[in-house]
Amino acid sequence: MLNFTVGPVMSAPEILEVTGCSAPYFRTPEFSEIMFENEKLMLEMMNAPEGSRCVFLTASGTGAMESCVMNILSDDDKVIVINGGSFGARFAELCRLHKREIFEVKCEFGKQLRREQLQGLEDCTALLINMHETSSGVLYDMKMVSDFCKENGILLIVDAISAFLADELDMKGLGAAAVITGSQKALAVFPGISIAALSPEALERIEKNPERCMYLSLKAALLDGKRGQTPFTPAVSTLLQVNKRLRLIMEAGGPEAERERIAKVAKDFREGIKDLPFEPVSESPSNAVTSLHPTTASAKEIFRILKDEYDIWICPNGGEYAETVFRVGHIGNITDADNKKLIDALKELQKREII
Ligand SMILES: *Cc1c(COP(=O)(O)O)cnc(C)c1O
Repeated sequence: MLNFTVGPVMSAPEILEVTGCSAPYFRTPEFSEIMFENEKLMLEMMNAPEGSRCVFLTASGTGAMESCVMNILSDDDKVIVINGGSFGARFAELCRLHKREIFEVKCEFGKQLRREQLQGLEDCTALLINMHETSSGVLYDMKMVSDFCKENGILLIVDAISAFLADELDMKGLGAAAVITGSQKALAVFPGISIAALSPEALERIEKNPERCMYLSLKAALLDGKRGQTPFTPAVSTLLQVNKRLRLIMEAGGPEAERERIAKVAKDFREGIKDLPFEPVSESPSNAVTSLHPTTASAKEIFRILKDEYDIWICPNGGEYAETVFRVGHIGNITDADNKKLIDALKELQKREII
């Protein structure tokens, strides 16, 4: 099976080897050492500011999103939520659920956020954004968003779940209070872990805020993290894979080299499909994903045929775009040779007059 979805994605053989055994017991100094290294490497790779911490929650990416909404924001915040697709809508929903006062900025599907859309929101106190809105494939203009937040003293929380390692990400440069990612996207290990890097400003807010939950408590995660542990049994095997993967990235030249590799895979795919009847959906594509609108066939049908007849998985869209948009991921253990197999299959669909 060739997996071009946006997560879980294909893992490298070295990663699969890590979990070829039962999960080890974790309340040990050995496991703590691994967690210390995970924290150190994650902070380094995100270029987190001095004094930042990083927590590893056993949850999918949404766990860290919810945890940040609960633990970093407070009842007094006025929160801007950028909503350009299903992940932006999720942030808005989380804010509503946790009774945050929100100002939703809606972006047309596939369209870039423009500075004018933020006008009048200067007195807000926090901004939540999915750096790469994975449902539409839009990589937001983070420099513009960061400048807006800096100019107005607004706390910036970045969901970089699908952008981490795929697109340029500099936590310090952005002045972000929190940057979130997850294990099953470009980290390309098994699902189960969501990660949040927290700046000193976020840490201070977490410390001050009243406890609102137990399982997703950042205060508890930070406290246990000081000894390389987690409050509850974590996804031990996934954390071991995270460690292996972070080490492999460092050995291969660091996050920049990984980003360039993913960018090359994306470019190779985009060039290969130029003559096919697909329109790009995103006016500002991330390296992680190419979102496409097939002009001659149903997106859902293309997904089904590739899966059933070619054993190739692309990523179907959901909801109102299920028939009109599909996405091809470039993250995970994908090579140009894999791209060729997908492109050849798509060309065959054209010959068969399916597309
Ligand atoms: C994948 C993803 C998430 C989290 O999804 P989970 O299914 O909870 O892991 C959140 N935001 C973005 C931008 C994503 O790509």
